[in-house]
Amino acid sequence: MHALTEQQVRRSFVNCSQGEAKGLALPKDFADLDWAALELLGWRDPKAPLRGYLVVDTGERPVGIAVRAADTRMSSRTAAMCLLCQTAQTGDAVSLFTAKRTGAAGRNGNTVGTYMCADLGCADRVRTEIPPWLQDRNPDEVVAERAAELRERVLNFVEAVRR
Ligand SMILES: [Zn+2]
Repeated sequence: MHALTEQQVRRSFVNCSQGEAKGLALPKDFADLDWAALELLGWRDPKAPLRGYLVVDTGERPVGIAVRAADTRMSSRTAAMCLLCQTAQTGDAVSLFTAKRTGAAGRNGNTVGTYMCADLGCADRVRTEIPPWLQDRNPDEVVAERAAELRERVLNFVEAVRR
């Protein structure tokens, strides 16, 4: 995605108040991000343990979604999969996140939920964690495919939040 300024990130949020968007903690490495290698910017709020954020470029404009992690976690002994980057991991590395929907639906308490990497680091993981059954293929092609699929799933999630 294109590089965004701090102000663009804060203004991108569609499902939280302006006050929340102004006050949220940006990723620690915000100044050094490699934007070209990000289908989405995802991070957990270092100051608010259950909160996380996703920012994606929809093509028209960047859209930020505030999400909340479930306070119960899965066991490290179970297998789980992030539904955005589709990386299989142990249960404790995947969390159920919910996002408040925009508009009247959100005001009525409506949310959308999905399982995602607990650290919201999906953009890294599509590049670094290649499933065994794809490892004999051209790595650049596999990463490009996984990245494109990740982007599509994130956009679907954003769509569900804004519907
Ligand atoms: Zn993921």
